Amino acid sequence: MKLFKHARVFAPNDLGQKDVLVSGNKIIAIDAQINLQSSHGLQVIDATGHYLVPGFIDSLVHISGGGGEGGFKTRTPQMPFSDAVEAGVTTMVGVLGTDSITRSIEDMLARAKALKEFGLSVYCHTGSYHYPAPTITGAIEKDIMLIDEFIGLGEIAISDHRGSQLSWQELAKVASKARVGGMLSGKSGIVSVHVGDSSSGLDLLFEVAKNSDVPLSQFYPTHVNRNSDLLTQGFEFAKAGGVIDFTTSTTDQILAEGEVAADDAVRQALADGVDPMHITLSSDGNASLPCFDKQGRLIDLQIGRVSSLHKSLVSCVHKQEIDLGTALMTVTQSPANVLGLDNKGQISPGFDADIVLLDEMDLAIKQVYAMGECLMGEGGLIKATYFAEA
Ligand code: ZN
Repeated sequence: MKLFKHARVFAPNDLGQKDVLVSGNKIIAIDAQINLQSSHGLQVIDATGHYLVPGFIDSLVHISGGGGEGGFKTRTPQMPFSDAVEAGVTTMVGVLGTDSITRSIEDMLARAKALKEFGLSVYCHTGSYHYPAPTITGAIEKDIMLIDEFIGLGEIAISDHRGSQLSWQELAKVASKARVGGMLSGKSGIVSVHVGDSSSGLDLLFEVAKNSDVPLSQFYPTHVNRNSDLLTQGFEFAKAGGVIDFTTSTTDQILAEGEVAADDAVRQALADGVDPMHITLSSDGNASLPCFDKQGRLIDLQIGRVSSLHKSLVSCVHKQEIDLGTALMTVTQSPANVLGLDNKGQISPGFDADIVLLDEMDLAIKQVYAMGECLMGEGGLIKATYFAEA
């Protein structure tokens, strides 16, 4: 058992100063004062001066690597375990991306299992950017029903020259497969949608919702902060019942070309009246972030980082002056809800003991617990991997 004393708890809403009791991998009690007789197996953690918040949920990470759009030398490496822990991310969703030729779903699933063995909670979407979707079992609904880690489909690409140029009818068909697979296995069956640069934006999703029985909320578009037109359309999507995702990994060059920084996008969305439960942030970790000149030549290439999720959270609070509870919602309760992760994203009895302690002054990540296990303490990473890059 672990007893956190004197923390200011954000559940993600502000609960004030509380003690939090963890037994095994679950939170079992929260109260103004919890006093237990010190006994063998009880660890008391003095959390004075800290905010105690849910472990972050990153709904889009290329856990087994991605990229490659600038040739083989631009393929990105897999996400190291330490990247997630140091970023306070205790739950993540792995996706494949553009390359489903040299990258496989099987390899991504193996990576998810490895990260789970290290103590994180890891889920995946079957498929890739492409249609028909690559799968393990030969069918989207079978993958979602029969493989524990698989909770949905994606990131399927629309409005992008790298996508499969789907019609609304084709998209409706694949979405219904994910939906049924989800229903039959008690998972979300959500369809993660990579939205590219094209001016058609989210049009295809609205078309599916209008012309078929698949609801708008079946889709979970990401990169919605890619440009201000898409952002505005995203607000409409969120108000119509969908959840929109903003990407936190970026570069100065990409911002100069019109991307709206994720923290700024959150502020604008809230000002426009979007419910914070319909906004999420994700890192797009280990994606490649290419930048091309006017002739289409690659001039800059960087890699997405899971750590950008926490940086954007801090900017939401310190730069955009969004209250911490609301900002936290976009990386905890809101992604848990859209992904159908019922035990995740809240500090509440019965929920998984995924806990991050933040410094009250600068919101720096001080300690990270996943499923009740301490992965990072004041002295840094606790759990070692076999190889530095694992
Ligand atoms: Zn994408």
